[in-house]
Amino acid sequence: MTTQPDIEQLLAFDRQHIWHPYSPAVPAQPCHLVESARGVYIQLASGEKLIDGVSSWWAVIHGYNHPHINKAIVDQLHKFSHVMFAGLTHRAAISLTRNLLTLVPANLQHVFYSDSGSVAVEIAMKMALQYWHAMGRPPKCTFATVRSGYHGDTWHAMSVCDPQDGMHTIFNNRLTIQHFADEPHCRFGETWDARDLDSVEALLEQYGAELAAFIIEPIVQGAGGMRFYHPEYLKALAALCSRYEVLLIADEIATGFGRTGRMFACEWAGVQPDIMTVGKGLTGGYVPMAATLASAQVGAVISQNAPGIFIHGPTFMGNPIAAAAANASLELIMDSPIVANVACIEAQLKQGLMPARDNPAVADVRVLGAIGVIEMKEAVDREKLQALFIANGVWARPFGKLVYLMPALIMAPDELEKLIRGVMKGLSAYAP
Ligand SMILES: *Cc1c(COP(=O)(O)O)cnc(C)c1O
Repeated sequence: MTTQPDIEQLLAFDRQHIWHPYSPAVPAQPCHLVESARGVYIQLASGEKLIDGVSSWWAVIHGYNHPHINKAIVDQLHKFSHVMFAGLTHRAAISLTRNLLTLVPANLQHVFYSDSGSVAVEIAMKMALQYWHAMGRPPKCTFATVRSGYHGDTWHAMSVCDPQDGMHTIFNNRLTIQHFADEPHCRFGETWDARDLDSVEALLEQYGAELAAFIIEPIVQGAGGMRFYHPEYLKALAALCSRYEVLLIADEIATGFGRTGRMFACEWAGVQPDIMTVGKGLTGGYVPMAATLASAQVGAVISQNAPGIFIHGPTFMGNPIAAAAANASLELIMDSPIVANVACIEAQLKQGLMPARDNPAVADVRVLGAIGVIEMKEAVDREKLQALFIANGVWARPFGKLVYLMPALIMAPDELEKLIRGVMKGLSAYAP
């Protein structure tokens, strides 16, 4: 049994020495110490049992401590935990890839594994560069994207994040200049206006000859603002990319595996991207793993032209434990009505969160699939609001003006009700 002084000592050490995401080296407030997690609950050492509203950043789609994923990891551990992936392969990766290919758009035929979403994006961008190099068109070497996007924190992934409001403004003068079109304005579920693409078309017209690829998060712009845009936008974008000979990279790291109410958000628009990235929920959020998928065409062009290989190879590529976890997660997805479940979560989130519109501090409430967003008029005091959520039994992590929920896709109606109630109570008690 950990006593209160023990906990305080651990947290004091953590605060002095462990750097946490998007934090100062020594933050004003210590973190919360997690003792265990099961299903949709996180048990803190301090005694609170919190219902997790964010699935550990979109990732833990089946909940914590799921026996099927746990068993897959343990079974693999007892065979071997890692082997290099150059010249060697293993059943976990083969089985995972077989299952993955049944779920993704059918044109995607080659899977390149890595350890994080940002790296999967870097790999996607390198693939696009190598593709045009192999095609004998090296001038096609820059990238286009839309504003308000988020594609990760590594160097080239940062260069296609929103240039102004993104988290990376400070690095701008050191990043490769890419081309930015206006973000989509027609919202999901509202009337489509083809003029929404004008800025993209102008950009492709002007720079098409030097563009390797257009990268975009399909349907949901996540960390760049939690915006849901019209599927026609993606559809028309894909058509324009193909007209201007620009590869389309769909970044499904946040949206993949059912989150938006389709297995992949590209399905809303019937789009088959040339390259697609997945991560976050790939292993059910149990261990780090991401993947970059390429079309048969991209794979063939890179492989049949000098240098004949794709120049990338992470040390822990295809890690067997991660592959076993991911495979187990995909088995759960395939054996359960996950998309139908997300539709139920969507209906309940809509019903439960919409009343927040009556709160004068709230600017907008929107829901798509298992994503619920309450956008405030002003940026919130995160510490303050988070403390109110915790007091109401909820783990959520607002950023800027956004209070967002992306619960596990298996969250039961009574659990979701508890989550929504906690959030609404926390929010109504909140005064900046
Ligand atoms: C989270 C995210 C990434 C980066 O993934 P990491 O695993 O954090 O490196 C990239 N793209 C999108 C759309 C994401 O949501």
